[in-house]
Amino acid sequence: MNAEIIAVGSELLLGQITNTNAQFMSEHLSELGINVYFHTVVGDNPVRLEEAISIAQQRADLIIFSGGLGPTKDDLTKETIARVLDRSLVTDGVAMASIEAFFASRNRVMTENNRKQALVLENSHVFANHNGMAPGMAVETDTHTYMLFPGPPNELQPMFQFEAKPYLAAKLSDDESIILSHVMHFFGIGESDLEHRIEHILATQTNPTVAPLASAGEVKLRITAKAHTVAEATALNMAMEQQLQQIVGEYQYGINDDTLISKTVELLQRHELTLSVAESLTAGLMQAELADIQGISAVLAGGVVVYNEDVKVEQLGIARETIDTYSVVSGEVAAAMATNVREKFGTCVGVGLTGAAGPEPHGDQPPGTVYIGIDVNGHVETYKLNLHGLRNTVRIRAVKYACHYLMQQLVKNGYNK
Ligand code: ATP
Ligand code: MG
Repeated sequence: MNAEIIAVGSELLLGQITNTNAQFMSEHLSELGINVYFHTVVGDNPVRLEEAISIAQQRADLIIFSGGLGPTKDDLTKETIARVLDRSLVTDGVAMASIEAFFASRNRVMTENNRKQALVLENSHVFANHNGMAPGMAVETDTHTYMLFPGPPNELQPMFQFEAKPYLAAKLSDDESIILSHVMHFFGIGESDLEHRIEHILATQTNPTVAPLASAGEVKLRITAKAHTVAEATALNMAMEQQLQQIVGEYQYGINDDTLISKTVELLQRHELTLSVAESLTAGLMQAELADIQGISAVLAGGVVVYNEDVKVEQLGIARETIDTYSVVSGEVAAAMATNVREKFGTCVGVGLTGAAGPEPHGDQPPGTVYIGIDVNGHVETYKLNLHGLRNTVRIRAVKYACHYLMQQLVKNGYNK
């Protein structure tokens, strides 16, 4: 099954919002093994929408729409599809009742145009909207499947994931109805390098399929098996995972929902180690990410943001001499930050991050130069990075590397994974 996603909305074309709906749906479609060949964006204009539909009909079996299901005049997705398919729009009783209940519960009078939101294409399968008013729907013709979803992501995402995805899964080949994905996470290896090493697997993959995905310095491999039973699909995925591990296993840090931060916390928790962090260029980013993890209070004692030189000296006790001799962007300062924060906060582990986030260099250090200090029970190690990208990319990557090196140091100090 080949799909095309048509996002409807002039806001998208004007650059006011990003087409995150297409991204979200594509990710889930790929989990189902459905190929998405085109993303189309079209404004709130019936003529151009019709044009987009007729192009999509020639190249996709499944055409998915996002947006334009609301009550206002510019919301014309349903009306346009009704015309193209020569189907009428009928009121869906359940949707109508829920829209009326919505207004009643808020003591508001329902304006007439809201009735429009309960209209669905005749003979469609309706997806209830638990987070808004306009329902979604699927329509089958002899040649195509059309699916319509409301634009707001908080409405589309649960509807797509919990209603549309099972609908599509059931439609897919009956004999192999179980589709199971498994994700492997890698760090410290580039996408092209990883792909190169597993080239022979990528070239011959059928079931399971293996799809590489790179983002913000990390690479993921999504393994997707189709089978008759969950056990069979799991076995297929496991066998593939082992095969991949033999080649690039040294770079793998986790699976499925794992992140570098969550794995770092897991390791610290397992060994009952406490942590403190001193941040310069990341200015609290690492601590904020750590705080996203449940149960972090047993691990993270606290930390400091020491952005300017004087604060590094006065608040964290970094020797002025060290800064003058080596520069504030140096391994020596990163190490001192790690050690001083560890001692001040009385933790087992201390992390120090200093660097030039960019875009301007720091003295003779080019932008993207980052030093990370890791102090585990007084054993200090420093790392130098030359990161690329914009300011924020550098800061985000610096945190990822800090986690990566912290885990390395913990293992080196006998705290096994
Ligand atoms: P509403 O009932 O809110 O009018 P709708 O189904 O008519 O919903 P739109 O009017 O097209 O949808 O968009 C409503 C809002 O949803 C937009 O202002 C935007 O915030 C968000 N949105 C729409 N399309 C997308 C998209 N492709 N990606 C991300 N967000 C989107
Ligand atoms: Mg709208």
